[in-house]
Amino acid sequence: MSTVIDLRSDTVTRPTPAMRKAIAEAEVGDDVLGDDPTVIRLQETVAELLGKEAACFVPSGTMANQTAIRAHTEPGDEIIGHADSHIVHYETAAYAALSGCTFRPLSGEKGFFDVDQLEGAMRHPAIHFPASKLLWIENTHNKCGGSVWPTDQLARVALRGRQLGLKRHLDGARLWNACARTSLSPSDYAHHFDTVSCCFSKGLGAPVGSAVAGDRATIARVHRFRKMFGGTMRQSGVLAAAALYALRHHRDRLVEDHANAQRLAAGLAEIKGIELDPASVETNMVFFDVAAEVPVDAAGLCQRLKNADVLALPSGVRRIRMVCHLDVSREMIERTIRAVSVAMGRPALV
Ligand SMILES: *Cc1c(COP(=O)(O)O)cnc(C)c1O
Repeated sequence: MSTVIDLRSDTVTRPTPAMRKAIAEAEVGDDVLGDDPTVIRLQETVAELLGKEAACFVPSGTMANQTAIRAHTEPGDEIIGHADSHIVHYETAAYAALSGCTFRPLSGEKGFFDVDQLEGAMRHPAIHFPASKLLWIENTHNKCGGSVWPTDQLARVALRGRQLGLKRHLDGARLWNACARTSLSPSDYAHHFDTVSCCFSKGLGAPVGSAVAGDRATIARVHRFRKMFGGTMRQSGVLAAAALYALRHHRDRLVEDHANAQRLAAGLAEIKGIELDPASVETNMVFFDVAAEVPVDAAGLCQRLKNADVLALPSGVRRIRMVCHLDVSREMIERTIRAVSVAMGRPALV
């Protein structure tokens, strides 16, 4: 009963015995020479799932995004997207460092924005200005709570982006969660974009890996920049096998994570001093605030929870994030709710 419940992120999942078996049995070659059959199969599978011509397997979501940016832009170009995008906060300003781009931040609830904001952010072509080049959409939106873009709004913004002459990229690290929520297929989302990045090592439970999908010419450039950024791998079929296994066996079960997140949110919302609107929980992430009058902040509460074998991350002075995933059962959710209740009820502790 004393196993640690790790809700810090859906990246903490470990490969299951069946996935390890798929890894052990993977056929491999040298992917830099282009002949690892399992990597080739993964790239074809991802391209087909997303309705694109080609895909490139990369070691991380960051590299997926950054090779796509580099493929679409040149130094002095500007990316337009939400101010709380993952590439703004969590990718070491790589769009500036590696591609020489600036970022034009838009505001908007839940990580969404609309056509008028996009139009307002466009630069007129003139010698003075950065060149508006790339429209950036994140779905689900990580920092904004695992929110799912309303489908019509996403289609409208992406279409306007195309009309304005922008390239369009979807940061779909958790696109699978968006699909689980809406029952749309990955290609239903992907067809609005020139390139899409997706991740196998979050809720899908693979140990490593992301991919970028797009047309053949753009993905050829992504391959080149993967090499330039140091991301080519050799017998990476062992990793691709885990990703293929995850795509096949772990996508349908994401609805369980979403149901667990709903239960967690409902339970936490009942605890005095926790501020949480369960309706804000759309996928596998639960964000909540510790009320101002509670004499412990987010870091303090996370420390108390850690002492009770429940791991969560502060995401603000009074804000905490908990993420449901493959290695979190319904029983663990019930234990977490009890642990938070106890931790909140002992204000004198720590
Ligand atoms: C996690 C994440 C990434 C980056 O993935 P890493 O594998 O950690 O580099 C990119 N975009 C979003 C929205 C993410 O949540």
